[in-house]
Amino acid sequence: MKVYYDLHIHSCLSPCGDDDMTPNNIVNMALLAGLDMIALTDHNSSKNCPAIVKAAKNNGLIVIAGMELCTAEECHVICLFPTLEAAMEFDALVEATLPPVKNQSDIFGTQIIMDEDDRVTGTFSTLLTTASSISIDDVPQLVQKYGGSTFPAHIDRDSYSVVASLGTIPDVGFHAFEISRFGDTDRLVKEHPVIQGWPLLCNSDAHCLSLIQDFGPWIELENNRPADLIAALSGKTPCQWGTYNP
Ligand SMILES: [Zn+2]
Ligand SMILES: [Zn+2]
Repeated sequence: MKVYYDLHIHSCLSPCGDDDMTPNNIVNMALLAGLDMIALTDHNSSKNCPAIVKAAKNNGLIVIAGMELCTAEECHVICLFPTLEAAMEFDALVEATLPPVKNQSDIFGTQIIMDEDDRVTGTFSTLLTTASSISIDDVPQLVQKYGGSTFPAHIDRDSYSVVASLGTIPDVGFHAFEISRFGDTDRLVKEHPVIQGWPLLCNSDAHCLSLIQDFGPWIELENNRPADLIAALSGKTPCQWGTYNP
């Protein structure tokens, strides 16, 4: 089946995310946009995943618990997990690798944790937009240990991408890649043959509600389930995908 997705969305937990990126607002906007599957991927944290997974229950939208990890090399990498439990275990591991820098909400923005009814349950005090001590070389294997799948984020961008930070795309076991909506896919494939043949995903990287993408990009999965997506992005099952072209 064709699954319309947006696998890179930030909530109010990311300091750069709008405060109205609440679990229920994100779910409702994704449903309005006609999406089948989304992932919540805050910077270096999955602490709003329990709320959004619960908020999406019984309304047909599949929400994947995830994170946008910032590696030691300052590369952004999307990590997605088959279950909430796996994501929260990974979250605990990543939290221990962050530098002990306090967030200054007046400068960087608030880091709000919510429950499934969009009630504030706390704020996260350590700044989430720093680099963890996890090397990009170790990310694919590490995420796999938690049953998840991972792909380098916005590889065409000139900041916090593998290409910007390393000058290349390391051949360390990534089996999917994210290219921004207006990225030049043909040029990227020519310059970086390591991405050829793998799913090239297009996500919104939304930090505000209006940027959650309309249905367009799709991936062919056997079923609309987290496990099927993880398998497709892990190179375990062949899959088809498409972006804005029918
Ligand atoms: Zn990013
Ligand atoms: Zn992002």
